[in-house]
Amino acid sequence: MDIIHDNDADLSVMNGKTVAVIGYGAQGRAQALCMRDSGLNVIIGVRPGKSFDAATQEGFQVMSVAEAADKADVIHILLPDENHGAVYENEIKPHLKPGKTLCCSHGFAYVFNTIVPPADVDVIMVAPKGPGTEVRRVFEEGFGCPGLIAVHQNPSGNARNVALAMAKAEGLTRGGVLECTLAQETYEDLFGEQNVLCGGMVDLMKYGFETLIEAGYPAEMAYFECVHEAKLIVDLIYAGGIQRMNEVISNTAEFGEYYNGPQILTPDVKERMKESLKRIESGKFAKDWLEEAAKGAPNLKAKREELGQHPVEIVGAKIRSLFERK
Ligand code: NDP
Ligand code: MG
Ligand code: MG
Repeated sequence: MDIIHDNDADLSVMNGKTVAVIGYGAQGRAQALCMRDSGLNVIIGVRPGKSFDAATQEGFQVMSVAEAADKADVIHILLPDENHGAVYENEIKPHLKPGKTLCCSHGFAYVFNTIVPPADVDVIMVAPKGPGTEVRRVFEEGFGCPGLIAVHQNPSGNARNVALAMAKAEGLTRGGVLECTLAQETYEDLFGEQNVLCGGMVDLMKYGFETLIEAGYPAEMAYFECVHEAKLIVDLIYAGGIQRMNEVISNTAEFGEYYNGPQILTPDVKERMKESLKRIESGKFAKDWLEEAAKGAPNLKAKREELGQHPVEIVGAKIRSLFERK
């Protein structure tokens, strides 16, 4: 896959264009601030409330979603995925015109058809591969978070140039950008967060922590070992790969990794990951999540509540408070 860099993108494509960032949450705030710093004309569309106030405070022109969609050439929807459909139908669709561009940072709405865009608008994706806080932090350091772009509809013929320019304005082309399809991004993103990064890692930490405390080890020690130190290990892998991490840890730890790791995460885990990928690609996961969200997300809320009572969270809060610089 080719990696796209700064030289491949031209910011002047955005001259005279207005970008409406819809939503001012984790991604909306970070991406809007970066694009504004790069000289793009950015306005914010969001409902009244905390985000509206924050965007106003940070000097943006803030208005209703409908008004922003009406004024903008590029409508960059950064709402929670489960809300895209309803907000699009009621507040965005009436303001679409040929030549306008719809943009997203995750293809969920288009791949699972909660948004079905008219054929005469461009549809693109500009997706940082990182949380909003990271996008902004790395940009402020003068570099960029890596990212993905996709062109989903291109009646104007200019969609790719606009996606590249927005990626450049957010610093992503400094970090390196890959071009993919919306379906690829949507499926791999859901797979990664469900099996490795969030689901997967969290379960591994909890099982490790529970095993130690059930065997009578102090919860504080179990937390240090199974949660706190995970960041240190991931940082080493991030910086230099798995082999570099193995060079830094002891030979004992490295031997233990080869000795016990494959006995814990046995090949049948991969079989279940394949089933999970199928549930994502078939639309089953999206259907279940959208149904849950439509009911007000009772199961999600119950799980959140339950996790708050787990000893790993209770002891974790206590341990983390030790690191607060007074
Ligand atoms: P957040 O939940 O952080 O922010 C959502 C924003 O949308 C808030 O400003 C919220 O305002 C606003 N909002 C919610 N509902 C409505 C509504 N009905 N009308 C108007 N405004 C509304 O979302 P994220 O930034 O996490 O996610 C945005 C998109 O970015 C998603 O598509 C996600 O998949 C994608 N993405 C997210 C990443 C991440 O790390 N978070 C990484 C890459 C992509 P209020 O304060 O009023 O609730
Ligand atoms: Mg995601
Ligand atoms: Mg150790």
